[in-house]
Amino acid sequence: MDAKLPPYLHRQDGQLMFEQVPLSSLAREHGTPLFVYSRAAMLDALSAYQRGLAGRPHLICYAMKANANLAVIETLVRAGCGLDIVSGGELERALAAGCEPAKIIFSGVGKTRAEMRRALEAGIGCFNVESEAELDVLDAVACDMGVRAPVSIRVNPNVDAKTHPYISTGLKGNKFGIAHERVVDTYRHAAACRGLSVAGIDCHIGSQITDPGPYLDAMDRVLDLVEAIEAAGVPIRHVDFGGGLGIDYADDAPPAADHLWQLLLARMDARGHGHRKIFIEPGRSLVGNAGVCLTEVLYLKPGEHKNFLIVDAAMNDLPRPAMYEAYHRIVPLQPSPAEPRTWDVVGPVCESGDWLGRDRDLAVQPGDLLAVLSAGAYCMSMASNYNTRGRAAEVLVDGDRTRLIRQRESVADQLRLERGLS
Ligand SMILES: *Cc1c(COP(=O)(O)O)cnc(C)c1O
Repeated sequence: MDAKLPPYLHRQDGQLMFEQVPLSSLAREHGTPLFVYSRAAMLDALSAYQRGLAGRPHLICYAMKANANLAVIETLVRAGCGLDIVSGGELERALAAGCEPAKIIFSGVGKTRAEMRRALEAGIGCFNVESEAELDVLDAVACDMGVRAPVSIRVNPNVDAKTHPYISTGLKGNKFGIAHERVVDTYRHAAACRGLSVAGIDCHIGSQITDPGPYLDAMDRVLDLVEAIEAAGVPIRHVDFGGGLGIDYADDAPPAADHLWQLLLARMDARGHGHRKIFIEPGRSLVGNAGVCLTEVLYLKPGEHKNFLIVDAAMNDLPRPAMYEAYHRIVPLQPSPAEPRTWDVVGPVCESGDWLGRDRDLAVQPGDLLAVLSAGAYCMSMASNYNTRGRAAEVLVDGDRTRLIRQRESVADQLRLERGLS
């Protein structure tokens, strides 16, 4: 019934289980669509990085935009993670989750003055600055507050991560980072600013990267820059290699995090940079395969050209197929007596882009439950209320225990901020 299941998903008497919990009982208890996450799967993913970087000065900052549920970030923070944030909202979540401010780094191309001020008040560890204009605004805000902002400049190493164009960020011609040629001058300028204190250098070349090659190329480019910046008299304390490691969605074969870091550390050592403090910002690879989305089959709609399987989850819950034509495995929660057929799995939203999987062989009938796999990253965090659909509930599994970590959003929740005319 299943080609391959991610860790902690398995079958017991045909029933799909996450750790020791039968997923169909969660669907019955909480309804569908429902996101379910495995604590053990998240902690295992984190420990692969921790093993890979053991014995080196390092900080792993979970890129919480991948999945920003409080319980998810608390799980990772309690296991030692810092957090990579991209907005003032994420800063408040990070603080609410009990993350030490010094372990928070602030990325993103469009930080506002108010966000900078709040982050400086909180005492975050580093700002990853993405443009010369931002550097000057941060300097002014910090001077105004009488403090110094720790900064790292995001450089664009101009390497091709060989991933989807929307999730490739390290090439010339996209909005991220400062061009290679401008980097040394920008550091000279930053070092001369009264409100700034140069801490490190940063890059992030894209997402769902499944080959170590682009990482090694980016590392070489960044280390070349570190040497040039230090030769210009500006010391660099940490080197941040960003996130981006892919997960197995279909037949992807990304390197394991500890294996990837063996290769990268060997390159750092060979170049004489083995002593440097390393920061990384993994998102997807910590949570992506630690989550599934449960959905119920509503209708079968066989047709001349296509057979449609209409389910109760949609692009507002699982936006990746519509946005990136992404692939998620879809498997039944239990065996069904129905005849297998090839289906396009689609949601109820009024858009042709509202599909979750195409040409899937499934034996199902209305009322059956399905699991959309690899749904822990960039699903719930990107979910919307399109078509006035409430966002799904979320459950965290830990062994045989379960905990509701977000209630299903009601229509009243959605209407709360609106004011009618009367
Ligand atoms: C999104 C993002 C990450 C995390 O990327 P993943 O592919 O989820 O690992 C890390 N750093 C920055 C700056 C990002 O924008």
